[in-house]
Amino acid sequence: MADRYYVDSPLAPGEVDLSGPEAHHLAAVCRLRPGDAVCLFNGDGREYAAQVVAVSRRSVTVRVHSVAAPQREHPFRIEVAAPLPKGDRAQFLLEKLTELGVTSFVPLRTQRSVVHPRDAKLEKLHRYVIEASKQCGRNVLLQVQPLTDWADYVHRADLPLTRVMAHPSGEAESQHRIRGGVDVAFAVGPEGGFTDEEVSEARPAGWQVRDLGPRILRVETAAIVLAVWAGGAEVSGAGVS
Ligand code: SAH
Repeated sequence: MADRYYVDSPLAPGEVDLSGPEAHHLAAVCRLRPGDAVCLFNGDGREYAAQVVAVSRRSVTVRVHSVAAPQREHPFRIEVAAPLPKGDRAQFLLEKLTELGVTSFVPLRTQRSVVHPRDAKLEKLHRYVIEASKQCGRNVLLQVQPLTDWADYVHRADLPLTRVMAHPSGEAESQHRIRGGVDVAFAVGPEGGFTDEEVSEARPAGWQVRDLGPRILRVETAAIVLAVWAGGAEVSGAGVS
């Protein structure tokens, strides 16, 4: 398959001129040349097979010759909310959540969280999503949402009905398994954990509190476990029920 490239512009069959920093990136960094076959995606759910027609310093012209919409998304929404782990682990987290088909990620500010990403960092997270999407074939981008306070997040009006908060010593997962195949929001706490106050804030807002087992997982491991559960219905074909 031709290499996949993300472009932040509309795509359609026929000739398309790409300009701005993106074209510069394709020309100077990716070193595309006339005749090269590429697969472009812009997050609209489709992928566009194209051939490079012309390359200059400021623009790249491609000819899109076919459009496909392979089904690589879950038919339900998975939202993961978690404080951002430090350093490379944030990249790892966004990469894995993208691969697992998560719909959106909400960076949380909690009482014990330490990393509070500003706009430049959120833009970086978006770049990680794009890189992972290139690799895994996703044509819809995981949405990185703005930094959100826990107190606001638990009450957000647009949350799915199924809301699960991971907290050691919550209810055992094996007794009340998460049902896969439905819209779901998951919340994971910081390395220091959620406070009792934060747990009590969530319960009346419809959050189930769940234990993930006898070992303490890193933020990113807990988020991955939950995303796998949610997507399980599709992977196994049988549902997690
Ligand atoms: N010392 C903290 C653990 C933090 S681990 C505490 O005791 O709460 C970071 C986050 O990952 C937790 O806030 C929780 O959301 C999730 N997590 C890690 N291990 C877990 C487990 N065994 N059960 C439930 N949630 C877990």
